Amino acid sequence: MNTFMIRSAMVVLLALAAGIGAAQERPSPETAALKPKGRVRLLGAEVPPGTKKRLTWTGGTAMQGFVSPVPVFVLNGTGPGPVLCLTAAVHGDELNGIEVVRRVIEDLDVETLNGAVIGVPVVNIQGFYRGTRYLPDRRDLNRFFPGNAKGSSATRIAHSFFTEVVKHCSALVDLHTGSLNRTNLPQVRADLNDPAAARMTKAFGATVVLHSKGETGSLRRAASTAGIPSVTFEMGEPMRVQPEHVEHGAKAIETLLYSLGMTKQRRYWGDPEPVYYSSKWVRVDHGGILFSDVALGERVTEGELLGVVTDPLTNQQHRIYAPMSGRVLGMALNQVVLPGFAAYRIGSETKPKARAESDAEAEDPEEALDADELE
Ligand SMILES: [Zn+2]
Repeated sequence: MNTFMIRSAMVVLLALAAGIGAAQERPSPETAALKPKGRVRLLGAEVPPGTKKRLTWTGGTAMQGFVSPVPVFVLNGTGPGPVLCLTAAVHGDELNGIEVVRRVIEDLDVETLNGAVIGVPVVNIQGFYRGTRYLPDRRDLNRFFPGNAKGSSATRIAHSFFTEVVKHCSALVDLHTGSLNRTNLPQVRADLNDPAAARMTKAFGATVVLHSKGETGSLRRAASTAGIPSVTFEMGEPMRVQPEHVEHGAKAIETLLYSLGMTKQRRYWGDPEPVYYSSKWVRVDHGGILFSDVALGERVTEGELLGVVTDPLTNQQHRIYAPMSGRVLGMALNQVVLPGFAAYRIGSETKPKARAESDAEAEDPEEALDADELE
């Protein structure tokens, strides 16, 4: 073949591809990469196609008689497709995701569903009852996946959930909120170096996407390592149910279901393109009471005032300025802060491929120490 023939063939191929693209009903081919469902059997039950069951996972956490059963909703559709898992409240005080899972499941019809959905609205039920992020042994469950059957209490719980529920998923979305008096703009977090997870990030409609590898031991990272494409969905703050964030979350997950070919109805989304960000935390250098001048999601320019820290005893004020232009993707609520406190997460738009820099940042030990990723 000479150069001219190769070029002509490429033109024909491109034209064909464009034609096929235009004729496609679905916006993306994400579903092709996900493992299709087989018989849906978990937690000692079988869920036949076209049915919905509420099962329970007990996690072997407590003494017999004090067991807190965790509801696991399984919806097996009539059509072929992947098994999408939705998990929330791995941190017991993160409430927005619980309501998102409830809404999404409530709106699904197993008669028209392709594939299956496994929804666990409250993974850390002990923390949920006690209104805390942690397990009763004060450990963070999201640092112990995939767990170990012979280890500490947290690692056993993680292992039980991972083997009894997560192993059945073709893909997973783990829902979280900001933590420790911080709030997050609704955003998808994924390791964009993982092609399957990167493909998933395109399917959440007009949602911000942040590249992050995920903490070691997080459900997302462990599931991805086990070959289950996974992302985290962050929205809002802990301890509260925030209607605008819940609405965004539910719409984003429903867009995902549609993009995966699992549902036929698409919820309207004006601008379906994801926007990719890399980010940096701005820390305060003085202790005192933090008052913000910016709002979550606001666009700021370099040098713009973000907030003021006032010493309550000396009245000394310290202004915090934006070190770069970008968007406020996460921020601290007004509160008392100590020097070094990470107050504003500023995101700058990036191309999905330009990731080397944010990789380095994710590995910054101080970031890890402060656990600002806090998934
Ligand atoms: Zn969390």
